[in-house]
Amino acid sequence: MKRLVCLLLGLLLCLPLCAGAETAKKTAMDVEVREHEALFSFEAAEQEFVYVKFSSKYDSGEMVLVSQDGVFSGVCPLPCTFDELTLTITAYTLGGKTLMRWDGKTVPAEGGSPCDTLDKTVRAAATARDVVMTVEPTGIRYSFYVPGRAKVLVCIKSPQESHTLLAYAGEGYTYEGFQEMPLTYADDNVTMTVLTVESSYELYRETVHAYFAPLEAAAQAETGRLSGVTVCIDPGHQRKTQVETVPLGPNFTKQSTTTVGMAQGVVTGRREAIVTLEIGLMLRNMLLEEGANVVMTREVQDTFVGSLERAEIANDAGADFVLRLHCNSRDDAHVQGIVIYCPYQSSYAMEAAPEDEYREMGFTLLHAMQAATGQTKGTCTLNNTYVTNNWSKMPSFLVEMGYLSNREEDLKIATDVYKNRLAQGMVEGIVELSRMRGLIE
Ligand SMILES: [Zn+2]
Repeated sequence: MKRLVCLLLGLLLCLPLCAGAETAKKTAMDVEVREHEALFSFEAAEQEFVYVKFSSKYDSGEMVLVSQDGVFSGVCPLPCTFDELTLTITAYTLGGKTLMRWDGKTVPAEGGSPCDTLDKTVRAAATARDVVMTVEPTGIRYSFYVPGRAKVLVCIKSPQESHTLLAYAGEGYTYEGFQEMPLTYADDNVTMTVLTVESSYELYRETVHAYFAPLEAAAQAETGRLSGVTVCIDPGHQRKTQVETVPLGPNFTKQSTTTVGMAQGVVTGRREAIVTLEIGLMLRNMLLEEGANVVMTREVQDTFVGSLERAEIANDAGADFVLRLHCNSRDDAHVQGIVIYCPYQSSYAMEAAPEDEYREMGFTLLHAMQAATGQTKGTCTLNNTYVTNNWSKMPSFLVEMGYLSNREEDLKIATDVYKNRLAQGMVEGIVELSRMRGLIE
């Protein structure tokens, strides 16, 4: 009996403490719910980047936020949430640890239905017809008709967000609308499904690529730190991998066959080919603004540029350096960092620079990138593995900018802030290398 009393007492003493802790956790996130959106802000002093996920019954999304002072704020778009529904917003570290969570209700929105005027005698069709799905910079525009159905469910889903709308037919059982996709990364797959309201029977399904706006070329500065220097940027991969077998290097008898596949974000699902292109175009503009001449091996996703062809582009342009952008992937999800590969033993590479100088240049580039990004992990290695490196008549660096198999690096590399840092690091590296090579003062 004594023991039970003690236990009860202990429980009673503990209760207010637990409740207090719980309240503190819940009030840590400030949320203002409005019609079709929720504004949130919170403090996470230790973090520079955070990962936020939210969901209501009809909308969900995720985003990576960056803050210099540990105060984070953002907007959860809830375009399809018309009713008072449960909304959950959770903030995580990039490593996946829960920082805080908020649960509350959404605000009901006004909305009418024109379907009362429809002719109810039309037999309901089992497919959506004349579907037009257009990809626009901020979302997906759709139109279709389903004879006899006064309402359908329209689900539009990308790897990052999903919205489900109860859509009401207009005249002639036509449906049209525009779904904003603010959290979807460029070039990711977006799938639209049209379902019956009663049984979720699938009337239509189609997948398209989210909008990708290639960055327009900046004007080349007349004078700058890199005036007179030519850099070839080689954004690794392209939308579709094509297997090719080519000689490994000018003085090697071995052939090299393309390894099929590319790295893909473990959280974002972003493919290496789009990541390298986005950063490549940013880097192009930064180099142009420093006065450099820039040649690109590709500027679009839908193309095929072979490994040998990439070296030829650099050689034909008489480039001083080649920066080959790639992202790494490893089974061990903990591995992160920037890795740079330089060639050696290829006759072209040996003519471009002796082994020691190549290594020194590789490490110089690595250190410039580490200083710009804050990523301290990484290394530089010389090998004979890469065709483009081996066939380049100038210093050629394969830059693995980070591991998409690592949560943190995948999520960081999805932000403009970090992509800019990577590009800025490469610019600083090229400035130092140009000095080492006597191209600039
Ligand atoms: Zn790659």
